Amino acid sequence: MNIVKAAEECFEEIRAFREELHSFPELGHREHRTSRRIAQMLEGFGIPVLDCGLDTGVAALIEGGKSGKMLAIREDIDALPIAENTGLPFASQHAGISHACGHDIHAASLLGAAKILSQMREELCGSVLLIFQCAEETFDGAASMLQKDLFKNGVPDAVIGFHCAPSLPLGQVGVVSGIYNASCDRITLTVTGKGGHGAHPELCVDPVMLSAGLLVQLQTIISRGNCPTDPAVLTFGTIHGGSAPNVIPDQVTLCGTLRTFDDRVRKKHLAEVERLSGEFCRAFKGDCRMTVDCGMPPLINSPDICHLIEESAQKVLGEKSVRTDLAPSMGSDDFSCILEACRNHGAQFLVGTGIEEQENTRLGLHVAENVFPSEALLPGMMMLAQTAADFLR
Ligand SMILES: [Zn+2]
Ligand SMILES: [Zn+2]
Repeated sequence: MNIVKAAEECFEEIRAFREELHSFPELGHREHRTSRRIAQMLEGFGIPVLDCGLDTGVAALIEGGKSGKMLAIREDIDALPIAENTGLPFASQHAGISHACGHDIHAASLLGAAKILSQMREELCGSVLLIFQCAEETFDGAASMLQKDLFKNGVPDAVIGFHCAPSLPLGQVGVVSGIYNASCDRITLTVTGKGGHGAHPELCVDPVMLSAGLLVQLQTIISRGNCPTDPAVLTFGTIHGGSAPNVIPDQVTLCGTLRTFDDRVRKKHLAEVERLSGEFCRAFKGDCRMTVDCGMPPLINSPDICHLIEESAQKVLGEKSVRTDLAPSMGSDDFSCILEACRNHGAQFLVGTGIEEQENTRLGLHVAENVFPSEALLPGMMMLAQTAADFLR
């Protein structure tokens, strides 16, 4: 079957569906309408939706005509708490929420690929597990789906997926073999002192002062404690405490993120944040408790799957369509959790959405004004379908 032709044939239907998703964006774990509509469309294509006990998100299975391996294709479906400012005729109708990360393109592309793959199921040796993942932006969607019965039909032999890239031209695909995205851990430090009157610090243990000192010392974990050839970032983005200028509070909370490319580096620095915070605060008669949540491993793409993606891209998008010279990013994507669950076999690639003459398509992810052109649905669905077909050949 000619996948380029099949994609062109279902483009208008998929474009209309994408515009609908775009108009009604939903935040992580609240994608009820989005999930319902995806399931309806899949059933319309004759693809059975799996009952995995999911709250939001959708899983479905396409069984090929012959037996063989199982490939998972994962795309995310959630939106962001950003007020859209694109001026598109199909802009968000939900105040303060928009698809500013292009996940509407992801979900619709996977739906299009699913339609194409179901039309050619007799040719496929094996099966395709379709994962429309909830809550990527809140870092815990993949983990929440894996806790349910997502792999009830067995662990897939590999997983693929893509993310939109406004920095890449439309029609190009980016493939980064090996280290691609960072691990991500959300760290919460609760600094406890002893509150009281601001005029009598001698009767208190001031957690505001402790936090100010601690924040500076935490910077030494990367600058002095990290091997310079191991990339790592520790950023504290929030610090909250106190209610009045003349009151010393009992507690201050700091929240931050740790990013690394290596699980050993990640574990070492997490332990060091906990040790330093505790010992620093105790040295000043206070205390500190650390919690870590929403952790995800680094995303390391399998070289063999990257090679397959490159070959598939050349078939559907042409010889010069693949960029392999892109640098890894300290950004993160919980695709890495699904990848880890698939025994670390798979890869996530990039689909260009930037148009040279349209500056508002090149502003970047999470930007209220950025437009993800619907034309990106074509390379999106062609790439997913062709790579799946090639994997199951
Ligand atoms: Zn995002
Ligand atoms: Zn995203």
